[in-house]
Amino acid sequence: MYDIIINFSYLIASVLFIFGLKGLTHPRTAVRGNFLGACGMFLAVVVTLTDKHIVSYEYIILGIIIGSAIGAALAIKIEMTSMPELVALLNGFGGAASIFVAGAALIEGGSLTNSPVLQLTIATAASGLIGAVTFWGSLVAFGKLQGIISENAVVFSGQQIINALLAVVVLGLSVGVVLHPEVFSLYWVLVGVASILGVLLVIPIGGADMPVVVALLNSYSGLAAAATGFVLSNNVLIITGSLVGASGIILTHIMCKAMNRSLTNVLFGVMAAGGDGGPTADEVYGGKVKSASPEEVALLFDAARRVVIVPGYGMAVSQAQHPVASLASLLESRGATVEYAIHPVAGRMPGHMNVLMAEADVPYESLKDMDEINQTFDQVDVALVIGANDVVNPLARTDPSSPIAGMPIIDVDKAKTVVIIKRSLSPGFAGIPNPLFSLDNSLMLFGDGKKMVLDIITALKES
Ligand code: NDP
Repeated sequence: MYDIIINFSYLIASVLFIFGLKGLTHPRTAVRGNFLGACGMFLAVVVTLTDKHIVSYEYIILGIIIGSAIGAALAIKIEMTSMPELVALLNGFGGAASIFVAGAALIEGGSLTNSPVLQLTIATAASGLIGAVTFWGSLVAFGKLQGIISENAVVFSGQQIINALLAVVVLGLSVGVVLHPEVFSLYWVLVGVASILGVLLVIPIGGADMPVVVALLNSYSGLAAAATGFVLSNNVLIITGSLVGASGIILTHIMCKAMNRSLTNVLFGVMAAGGDGGPTADEVYGGKVKSASPEEVALLFDAARRVVIVPGYGMAVSQAQHPVASLASLLESRGATVEYAIHPVAGRMPGHMNVLMAEADVPYESLKDMDEINQTFDQVDVALVIGANDVVNPLARTDPSSPIAGMPIIDVDKAKTVVIIKRSLSPGFAGIPNPLFSLDNSLMLFGDGKKMVLDIITALKES
């Protein structure tokens, strides 16, 4: 009877997670989705704490206090642009937890769980293997994003062969753990070799591709948790792990598609720096770039009826979202229509721009998806590109040899006038020049994103 209540509660928690995830698919329902997910998690934790396997409440309470304090401090302090690093760390710790929980269950010889022996041993080997790859892979991703280790792709000869050999060894060790669960050392050797594999799999990937890798490792951390769910015969862990595993892989796919790259290319290829064979910066810009002052841009806005703002990574760096929202309100109060064009991979993580604009209380209806807004750019009077570069680079449409060839872009070049705010003509993430900056209908406003927007507001108010 007790087991039925526990499992029924886990079922309710799982349903709450699924509705929570569904809610997160739209900004309007995201807050409710988050709340449902939190309720599901609360229920799962409470039920687990009342379950009969609890060994010591003191340690659990101590763990909750320390973990909550660290989590709260991180959540408050973290910059929006450093979110991928934080997610990488969280994934890594998920993997590490799977290693230790499965290891403990193995040492206890199954007395911690009701799992059949074969289920226990197979799931333990899977937890150790995937958990270790996730933990060490995530630490490398964190190190690269933080600049603690080289952002560059670290490649050496024979790397793929070594990885393949290590993969064979970890599979062999996994079979060993399944056949001889009483030899605990085999499990820890498996964890050790899988750790080396985790490092070697991520080290050859360039820092700029890390957000995709982080999404993939997120998926792995879910799989590790699901495997640990089988170790413990814990249904809610199996379901949540599977949900994380599936959503991580879907996110990875969306990111790759939005960059027009395959997952294999991200994992095993290096983005062609500077775009082999593509035009040089001198060829693209030489004598053709026109720069404007904030006052000149204010004059343009004064006459504009329809304005589209395109935020990018530089807006996040300069934290210009609040001034941008103020500029939009000012233009609207003067009778203009203002919308935001959001590219799926603008910034450094999916949804980056949506979160920043929501932070500045921009109404959801004003945030337009790329596909929707692209159809109407020829009716736009002024497109204001702020700190975005690759996501508005027309080379994606015209140069098949470019590293961003085929990547869907926001068609700002079709607007009557395009104003681009950035500090220089430096390239963006893909490292290639952008012919948008030298088009006849383009004007550059050179400077920090936030300062330039504030200067435009001042000029508008004075005009
Ligand atoms: P980009 O990286 O292409 O360009 C950002 C631009 O911002 C730079 O050219 C820089 O120019 C400018 N900038 C930097 N700091 C400031 C500042 N303080 N004020 C004003 N401008 C500034 O960004 P996009 O958003 O256009 O594109 C994102 C890129 O990241 C894409 O290539 C995408 O594929 C990639 N990517 C995105 C992921 C995601 O999930 N979102 C994941 C992985 C990769 P300057 O130095 O001259 O100021």
